[in-house]
Amino acid sequence: MAEGWTRRQVLAQATIAAAVYTLDPHELCCGVNAYAQTAGAETFELKKVGDGVWAAVAAVRYKVNSNAAIIETNDGVVVVDSHSKPSAARALYKEIQAVTKKPVKKIINTHFHWDHWQGNEVYAQANPSLEIIASEKMKAALLRPNSGVGGVPFIETQLKNLPGEIAKLKTDIQSAPDAETKARLENNLQQAESYMRELQNIKPAVPNRTVSQTMSLQEGGREIRLMLLGRGHTDGDLYIYMPREKVVATGHAVVDWMPFMNDGYPEEWGQTVGELEKLDIERIIPGHGEPAPRTHLAMFRGYLTDLVAAVKKAGADGMPLDAMKTKISDDLAPKYESYMSRYPVGQYRDRVPVNVEAAYNKLVKKM
Ligand SMILES: [Zn+2]
Ligand SMILES: [Zn+2]
Repeated sequence: MAEGWTRRQVLAQATIAAAVYTLDPHELCCGVNAYAQTAGAETFELKKVGDGVWAAVAAVRYKVNSNAAIIETNDGVVVVDSHSKPSAARALYKEIQAVTKKPVKKIINTHFHWDHWQGNEVYAQANPSLEIIASEKMKAALLRPNSGVGGVPFIETQLKNLPGEIAKLKTDIQSAPDAETKARLENNLQQAESYMRELQNIKPAVPNRTVSQTMSLQEGGREIRLMLLGRGHTDGDLYIYMPREKVVATGHAVVDWMPFMNDGYPEEWGQTVGELEKLDIERIIPGHGEPAPRTHLAMFRGYLTDLVAAVKKAGADGMPLDAMKTKISDDLAPKYESYMSRYPVGQYRDRVPVNVEAAYNKLVKKM
């Protein structure tokens, strides 16, 4: 398999999508800043992160995909997260099949957000005995109305919102100031329309096995530890840790850009990442962005902790929310701005105000 993957990896690298602008993965609608420069860009790029362990690093697109992790065992393949839509999952499944005929036996979903599980059905169709594993709380959130930006009922929400998003893109195309912007918006429109068609036909494949505490899978010669470390990005985050390979796949609980907090627990999140740091980890497959070294955890936790402390202090001082957004953005910038702005998405200045507001709502309003 290694040879095949290497060849494919080279191929994938040769066709890396140009950097493209896009939305925060969890925002539904669009804005004039939402760009995609490359039509038909690759969906993902495979990167080896350990012996038999690969990250499918999603190309940055207007309609976002999460990363996936691929773990080859002696008798099968385990995939962590399934992208945001069946077409993306199908593309990855074809890559896997091209290099091994071993079946994909298990999908593990890290959390309930739409961009991490909506491709599950592809693997379920390919293997009727597929196990789809998630935390108990993830499954409950997946099936509950109004969980946040994910879950089965959220498909209907997206379908209700997409026509408005598409109409706005069409209007924006009409008033595009230059040819380049127009081309990008037209590409975004194409992505939005095909995403809507996919959602109209989606057959949600939900987890059929849940875990409520940390446990190990002994999977074809490998140990894959499913870890519940506490609340953070959601209340059901699952970390997939491979102790021998010293690799962890984190889903959206650790990303290589700014965190999305709106369905999260800002104060506990830093502590949970602290728990993760106690493990012997060399490589992180984050939910979005490039595979990262261990040092990323301290940086990501540092931002969460500093943000929470700053919001609580400003709240105790009676500072209004708008002033807080500006002040905290400026105050934390020397430490985090350049590090957290390495992608055209999820950048520091765009996200701090949203994070401040989320932390304010959860921590100060209740005070
Ligand atoms: Zn998420
Ligand atoms: Zn995500």
